[in-house]
Amino acid sequence: DPQYLQETETEAHILGKLDVLPMYKQRDKFSHKGKFGHALIIGGSYGKIGAVQLASRAVLASGAGLVTAFTPKCGYIPLQTAFPEAMVITDSDEGKITHIDFNIKPTHIGIGVGIGTDEKTLVAFESFLKANTVPLVIDADGINILSKNKELLKYLKEDTILTPHPKELERLIGAWEDDFDKLNKAKAFAKKYKILILIKGANSIAVYQDKLYINSTGNPGLATAGTGDVLTGIITGLVSQGYTALEATCFGMYLHGKSADLAIEFKGYQSLIASDVISYLGQAYLDLF
Ligand code: AMP
Ligand code: MG
Repeated sequence: DPQYLQETETEAHILGKLDVLPMYKQRDKFSHKGKFGHALIIGGSYGKIGAVQLASRAVLASGAGLVTAFTPKCGYIPLQTAFPEAMVITDSDEGKITHIDFNIKPTHIGIGVGIGTDEKTLVAFESFLKANTVPLVIDADGINILSKNKELLKYLKEDTILTPHPKELERLIGAWEDDFDKLNKAKAFAKKYKILILIKGANSIAVYQDKLYINSTGNPGLATAGTGDVLTGIITGLVSQGYTALEATCFGMYLHGKSADLAIEFKGYQSLIASDVISYLGQAYLDLF
């Protein structure tokens, strides 16, 4: 029972294969894509459509049933051409998101990758957040927008997942003195807003309800453009399939790191690119057994 992770008294857990394995959901013979969720990835801006593409591909590669990307107009052709499995909805603006409005019913939303911090995008993000009722994974400039306007934090629903890298975390919770102080600040923040914070880095740490979950997979090959966008897609894809926010975060960061570990056996650290992390995701699943 994966609940054991939450129920145990221990304050910090190191997540290895035996910890994530109980979370794994089997797929049965009569499965239908409608059972695995419809994720929406909202993001992108002129020159940063690749971030949305990586995240959306990772959504499907993690096992979600359907994915739609919401991007500025300039994202339409590249997405439809390079990624036929995705559906695409566009903003009225050519190069940035100015109004988040869609006539579909996604089950889960990942927002922020490549979205930028244009003033119009900030306004669009704010009205979206106030009206939204769908569980969210927020990354990148989505987190930066929250940091710029902390009033918005009160609109975050319980169990929202934030995936900051160290700079994004600093903007969000303020500077820290040392690692101990950083984790205490992150814990207090996660508790106050009843959210989950995945602190990305060499050993990513998920912070949830006073507890820490430390990832054991991953390598310096991941220190390259776009790997964070892939992680956002994987976690969004997992919540879409019915994993809880904590499970999706723990399992997602484990699979992301494991995929990179398997990929560098063939590619080495230097030439690993974010797309490889998607390509090897299937191997990471297979490696569980
Ligand atoms: P981002 O900074 O948003 O692109 O995210 C980078 C991703 O790569 C995160 O999932 C990090 O945990 C991971 N990552 C970056 N550097 C390392 C490293 N040296 N070792 C392991 N994972 C890393
Ligand atoms: Mg990032």
